[in-house]
Amino acid sequence: MTKTLQIEVDPSLCASQERNITGELPYDELQQIQADIDPSSSSIRADLTFSKVGKFVVLTGRISADLVLQCAACLELTDFPVNIDVKLAIINDEARASLIPDDYEPYLYEGERLLISDVVEAEVVLVLPSIARHEVCPVELPKSSASKDYGLETEKKKNPFEVLEKLKLN
Ligand SMILES: [Zn+2]
Repeated sequence: MTKTLQIEVDPSLCASQERNITGELPYDELQQIQADIDPSSSSIRADLTFSKVGKFVVLTGRISADLVLQCAACLELTDFPVNIDVKLAIINDEARASLIPDDYEPYLYEGERLLISDVVEAEVVLVLPSIARHEVCPVELPKSSASKDYGLETEKKKNPFEVLEKLKLN
């Protein structure tokens, strides 16, 4: 059975033990990004290790998933593979954010314990596109999108006039 990532840990203790956490976060357990992805998405897999760099607790490893998003243009589904190199400094005091080691991103948590699934979802949020779109849609687009393309065409046609304008200025 796969291990869940919905576990709360004490970051300092984990760092001193160099604890490794592997597990999966299925769609049903998502709190932050469930509305943004399709239910046919794979579980989010994580392989993360706590350690220390200087006085800082750091979390490094990998988060991966084969997410499925809905294309905003044609409304069909589009695959969105996720592969994130995690390099976080885990802090509970915002004032320390400017002091974290080079190459690490700050991750701020509140209270004494850190929920691993929160960290994993927060990292995935950062790579999700604000608007999902196929590079090339597999189906013919509805008219509303086609007229947008027409808009781009007319913009391109403006260019020769701009060139003329510049010549006039010279
Ligand atoms: Zn599409």
